[in-house]
Amino acid sequence: MKPEASNPNSSAASRFDAIIIGAGFSGLYQLHCLRDRLGLSVKLVEAGDDLGGTWYWNRYPGARCDSESHSYCYFFSKALYEEWEWSERYPGAPEILRYLDHVAIKFDLRRDIQFGTRVRSAHYDVADNHWIVEAESGQRFRATYLITAVGCISSANVPEIPGLDSFKGKWYHTGQWPHEGVDFAGKRVGQIGTGSTGIQAAPVIAQSAKHLTVFQRTANYSVPARNAPLSAEFKQYIREHHDEIQEVVESTPNGHPFRISETRVFDLHPAERQKAYEAAWEKGGLQFRAAFQDLLTDKAANDTAAAFLKSKIREIVNDPETAKSLADIDHPYAAKRPPIDTNYFETFNRSNVTLVNLRKDPIERITPNGIKTRDNEYELDVIVFATGFDALTGTLLKIDIRGRDGLCLRDVWKAGPRTYLGLQVPGFPNLFTVTGPGSPSVLCNMPVSIEQHVEWITECIAYMRDNGIERCEAAPEATEKWVEHVNEAANATLLPRVRHSWYLGANIPGKPRVFMPYAGGMTRYRAICNDVAAKGYEGFVLTRSGQGADAKAGTALNDFEAAADISTPGV
Ligand code: NAP
Repeated sequence: MKPEASNPNSSAASRFDAIIIGAGFSGLYQLHCLRDRLGLSVKLVEAGDDLGGTWYWNRYPGARCDSESHSYCYFFSKALYEEWEWSERYPGAPEILRYLDHVAIKFDLRRDIQFGTRVRSAHYDVADNHWIVEAESGQRFRATYLITAVGCISSANVPEIPGLDSFKGKWYHTGQWPHEGVDFAGKRVGQIGTGSTGIQAAPVIAQSAKHLTVFQRTANYSVPARNAPLSAEFKQYIREHHDEIQEVVESTPNGHPFRISETRVFDLHPAERQKAYEAAWEKGGLQFRAAFQDLLTDKAANDTAAAFLKSKIREIVNDPETAKSLADIDHPYAAKRPPIDTNYFETFNRSNVTLVNLRKDPIERITPNGIKTRDNEYELDVIVFATGFDALTGTLLKIDIRGRDGLCLRDVWKAGPRTYLGLQVPGFPNLFTVTGPGSPSVLCNMPVSIEQHVEWITECIAYMRDNGIERCEAAPEATEKWVEHVNEAANATLLPRVRHSWYLGANIPGKPRVFMPYAGGMTRYRAICNDVAAKGYEGFVLTRSGQGADAKAGTALNDFEAAADISTPGV
């Protein structure tokens, strides 16, 4: 179908077959699939002024991907894979943006993207079987299919610390970083937060700031990334091994380009185990987590990794008090998303860096001149909030999404997100959520989980069109079963035991404590999704033109109950 002309000033809705929200990895590929493979008319709307999604917003100092570059990319086009050359083991934010721009040019994507368009609402019109999407500007779009590609960690969380308004200096959140950059030279900088972002940012900020004070609430593990330029040999290996690398990322539970060891921690004597940990520490990055098979499922096994990593902190950090605070970690290794770093702990040996342990001396308020803790006051020119995100549901719930009979997503998810396969919500026909809650998403190398979702959605829409199906909607029974299975999969790991984890929504006051991503592993998840599709989209209610529902709800879904194939999660 040809789209009707789109006039940004008109309140009459422009019609398309599909609207996609978000121009990151998900949205760009979804646009390519629906437009170029299925021949649909598609409009992609994006809040930012350019593409990149997460990478458009997260331009903080040190922003770099924790997945290895040759796996943090699309695999769907072998030509694309072979022609793009990554420069380093882990790509920095600017290089990822260049890559996505290259993708957009290669597949001529920009002509169907409207930037600077933040979606305010999306309402389903049952009579017309259309979604009406309205931007903050008042511009409206209509489409049969609505695909949210809004990212999992795209809603910045600035904690409500009293006094922020009174601060005379400048403050920034890492997830909304100014595109012109921030000059820290001669500045006294306070950084709140020591998650993956804070651990990347602190060493870089410390290089130019007059003084950096890091405010740490929860101490964190970190493993050296061992970032380095890729050698000519490795670049050639990447160019020549697309299929093999794809086979690995698609057959490991967390979508990374390396296998997880089959050895269990207590299969080895302590001395051998120590050797294995040392070797994994030298390899660096998320590969450390792959050193043993049972680190995320057996607390006693995990304790050995935790002890090893804490001993490394004490070895690296010179000041015993600072080392003690940094190593005072209260959760199992990798039960929160494990950071990787370049010189994080070493940064605390610099004379211009101070650690404040908020567990001993909590923040009371922000003052015009800095941060006041219970026992001290820190004078600052700049505050950097590396305080994370309202993850997985935050961005979706900021949009007023209403399905059948005015059903509001915010109400449906009041007690936590409930989806079928992380792809659909009952009551919201033809709305597909790429890497939605209940899918592996953040526990997997993101582009790998994105490709799987985008391709599954594309095939589902192709099936609908080939079979005269107007509506596809998750059935309530199948959704209940899936939610149960998501909980079961999480409970087979150590992940839900960390009460202050953003996987559980615990970082946002008032957010329901529900373990949101699917921890059963990407390979298992992919097999389930394929099986559902092969059985004619089992668990979805499909409605043919002029006919009643062709319900396949709740049949033969017992497969989910098999023991979860949990190894290690990963981002
Ligand atoms: P995060 O993991 O949620 O960490 C937020 C940090 O801020 C935590 O240390 C938290 O302490 C602290 N914090 C929050 N509110 C606070 C308050 N009121 N007072 C003091 N401290 C406060 O966020 P993130 O580091 O931005 O990482 C989020 C996710 O983004 C990562 O887990 C990862 O999935 C992704 N990420 C990926 C990459 C990559 O691959 N390149 C890089 C960075 C981030 P508590 O722990 O005590 O709450």
